[in-house]
Amino acid sequence: MARIGKLVIVGVGLIGGSFALALKAAGAVGRVLGVGRSEANLRRALDLQIIDAGGALDAATLGDADLVLLAVPVGQMQAVMRAVAPLLGAKTVVTDAGSTKQDVVALARRELKGALSRFVPGHPIAGTEKSGAEAAFAALYRGRRVVLTPLKGSGPGAVALVRSAWEACGASVFELEPREHDAVLAGVSHLPHVLAYALVDQVARHKDAKRLFSYAAGGFRDFTRIASSHPEMWRDICLANRKALLAELARYGGELERVRRMLERGDGRALEALFAGARDARDRWLKDRE
Ligand code: NAD
Repeated sequence: MARIGKLVIVGVGLIGGSFALALKAAGAVGRVLGVGRSEANLRRALDLQIIDAGGALDAATLGDADLVLLAVPVGQMQAVMRAVAPLLGAKTVVTDAGSTKQDVVALARRELKGALSRFVPGHPIAGTEKSGAEAAFAALYRGRRVVLTPLKGSGPGAVALVRSAWEACGASVFELEPREHDAVLAGVSHLPHVLAYALVDQVARHKDAKRLFSYAAGGFRDFTRIASSHPEMWRDICLANRKALLAELARYGGELERVRRMLERGDGRALEALFAGARDARDRWLKDRE
């Protein structure tokens, strides 16, 4: 396991904070500095000992860092990359945790200049609906997958460092092409978030919303848990992966239309077959995850 002397987390929220805590718990990091846009959140990160000190987007913070994790919403990546690029040390490796990869890779090619070969794009497939330093916990990545989408020019040493950092957090690391990553995640992550937000919005805008919510129970709660996620973060993800998400929405529209027609014809046999197939697929998925 590679030991990281100095780690800088830009965006000490759920994802960046949990990365720092997991590396600390593994004894894989020396000093952790946090950079953020909210003073209150950084103070909380210090209180919770997620970071050892606050830093800034300056040479003192970044120049001698071994690893920098960009864990800000993907809509902030361009500004952050532009700011860090001229400040990075000659050996500093940079990675990110953004939920979309084609846009982040394109931005890195434009903004990171000389540091591009030390940039390793990444995405931990782990999270909760909570945000901010307060939500971070060391076990978030244990047993979960992390996808890296290295560029052709990414240095092997940089890729190895980032891989070993995620492994120290307890994750299994896989590599995908950015386009493949975005297509897969559109179907199993981005689409479900849009559906959860849309369903809650539909109920909330109903003229009898209060009464409807008063009868909503476990099923509604489970289905809509992820509608408590950070709106800015999900706005950015949806826009960044718009093309793949639109394709998944169209597919889902087709599936809903199929169900609608079954209901219209009162076709219980077809409905039950669909439900049984979906239940079996979900049970198999849960079993495989174990
Ligand atoms: P979060 O809101 O908990 O944390 C983001 C932090 O970044 C906040 O503390 C915010 O103040 C800070 N920030 C925002 N703009 C900034 C800027 N310009 N400069 C410095 N700091 C800034 O969000 P999160 O859930 O930790 O998500 C962080 C990244 O990880 C996002 O790119 C997201 O797409 C990705 N991600 C999220 C999840 C998830 O389930 N939450 C999972 C995997 C990846």
